[in-house]
Amino acid sequence: MSERQKPSKPHLNLVVVGHVDHGKSTLTGHLLYRLGKVDQRTIEEYAKMSEKLGVGDTFKFAWVLDRLKEERERGITIDLAFQDFETKRYYWTLIDAPGHRDFVKNMITGASQADGAILVISARSGETESALSDEGQAREHAFLLKTLGVNQLVVAINKMDATTPPYDQKRYEEVKNEVSKLLKLVGYKVEKINFVPVSGWKGDNLVEPSPNMPWYKGKTLVEALDEFEEPPKPTDKPLRIPVQDVYSITGVGTVPVGRVETGTLKVGDTIVVMPSGAVGEVKSIETHHTPIQEALPGDNIGFNIRGVSKEDVKRGYVIGHLDNPPTVVKEFLARVIVVFHPTAMAAGYTPVLHAHTAQIPAQVVELVQKLDPRTGQVTEENPKSLKTGDAAVIKVRPLKPLSIEEYKSIPQLGRFALRDSGRTIAAGVVEKITE
Ligand code: GDP
Repeated sequence: MSERQKPSKPHLNLVVVGHVDHGKSTLTGHLLYRLGKVDQRTIEEYAKMSEKLGVGDTFKFAWVLDRLKEERERGITIDLAFQDFETKRYYWTLIDAPGHRDFVKNMITGASQADGAILVISARSGETESALSDEGQAREHAFLLKTLGVNQLVVAINKMDATTPPYDQKRYEEVKNEVSKLLKLVGYKVEKINFVPVSGWKGDNLVEPSPNMPWYKGKTLVEALDEFEEPPKPTDKPLRIPVQDVYSITGVGTVPVGRVETGTLKVGDTIVVMPSGAVGEVKSIETHHTPIQEALPGDNIGFNIRGVSKEDVKRGYVIGHLDNPPTVVKEFLARVIVVFHPTAMAAGYTPVLHAHTAQIPAQVVELVQKLDPRTGQVTEENPKSLKTGDAAVIKVRPLKPLSIEEYKSIPQLGRFALRDSGRTIAAGVVEKITE
């Protein structure tokens, strides 16, 4: 459990997405720098490295994030200051450094659901066009975000310093139009989305209004982030606590540990563990080593239950109230997008299903419909196979009992990913439980 003090401002998780090389790392690094999260000396060191390698000055900000990545890969604890920042209204955590495909997995497995996203798109001639093409990642990311229920977006139209002529309003309008078309297709309400012309390299319109674009009267990037709505706390939903870990403490008993995703848990409540079905009474709840009477969504807790043995509670199980128990499924229909598959996915495929804290083998028993990834319209009934970039409705059978929910009733427990050999093959949401 983190020792970090709870921020007083509302907390939001943010992802930065967009086509490779459109400047996500540079923009994010520079933003963190402008917000005082990176010291001058570090930046100067990166600048020196850039010079030595002859890769140009713009790399110095991208390195802020590359270092993060390196540390993460070597398993070194990352200085949390690098990942968190504050704006006037909110406290933000960047989930995953830009460019890591694992953001999909993290969002699905519940480590971090994004409350909003920055979609970075370069305005440099040629780059915009390739990101928005059928193969473009901007298109893919927009669809993924929508599928995963991320409804708040800011579009950063980047590299405005590199348009011809520099800081060209006409080019900005052109890119804005094209991106709007894409977002509309994907299903976003474009009227609600802020578009900000920026230069991640030079810093224009990140925190302060840019003197280079006097024609732009809109919000800066951080002002646009502050326009996001605070996500409602899902206290009105049934209680769901995916189990992360379980301890057996002498003199205390069985102590599951996990984060409350939805609902509230109180001392004295009667709970049930699914799929084992074990029933018990909550004797005490603890968060950050402090006893509490009531736990709310977002709280990481350990709690002691009487009447349940350690064997009845395992990582991946879900705890809820006895009068509204977590659903256990044998088969479900899902809406997915194939994030990556080396060849083609066919019925019978058996990857590992990741949902909240659970990881179990599952079989794709039927490819029901192929969908247009841009509109969600059905393009083919019972397709033979699915390849990278395809969207589809598929039928999935977990090969062991699994507690998961329909996305429309409890979104927090309705997402999943299919993984194989450490890669995310497909990501999606549970549309309908069929068995
Ligand atoms: P990522 O792959 O999206 O994270 O992109 P990077 O941040 O690594 O940037 C890709 C390339 O674009 C690098 O050569 C950067 O120096 C350059 N770049 C990024 N942002 C800007 C910008 O605002 N203006 C200009 N001119 N170049 C930029």
